[in-house]
Amino acid sequence: MSKNITAIYPGTFDPITLGHIDIIHRAANIFEKVVVTLAVNTSKKPLFNVEERLEMIHDAIDKFENVSVAHFDGLLVDFAREQKSLVIIRGLRAISDFEYEFQMALMNKKLAREISTVFLMPNEKYTYLNSTIVKSVAKFHGNIDNFVTKFVADQLHNKFNGERS
Ligand code: ADP
Repeated sequence: MSKNITAIYPGTFDPITLGHIDIIHRAANIFEKVVVTLAVNTSKKPLFNVEERLEMIHDAIDKFENVSVAHFDGLLVDFAREQKSLVIIRGLRAISDFEYEFQMALMNKKLAREISTVFLMPNEKYTYLNSTIVKSVAKFHGNIDNFVTKFVADQLHNKFNGERS
């Protein structure tokens, strides 16, 4: 354990995938506490509302003792300070993630010198996975069981066709 360090893991989580859960698992093994943090006010138009996304995160992290969920609306570094968190976790899947993530990490560093961004790589089987692709597959009734938890798969099926086939 790193000396009592709380880390926040921010994102849109629309919805949470097995890739996100892989990162949460890794972070939970490294840090004292991990707060999965739903960023409410982003320019994205989410498929699931805040309550739905929080419920899916809650269901996914139930098995981790030192992981909790929160949501925030505003500046991430303000929320990190409020949580007394010195670390922001981000997942890096591929080079394509790098430029955006690097820019954001540098901006956060400018805004709050004491806070560091820590990048974690998922198991390579999740490097192709993101929430947008999962939603596209679910929309056309493809099999998403290897990408999300059963609970999330059910929520996606309900969104797109009311009932699971
Ligand atoms: P964003 O904050 O860009 O909307 P998400 O909510 O999808 O992104 O994801 C939050 C964080 O999790 C980001 O750092 C993203 O790179 C990372 N992430 C998303 N999917 C995966 C995955 N399959 N493997 C590893 N990291 C991931």
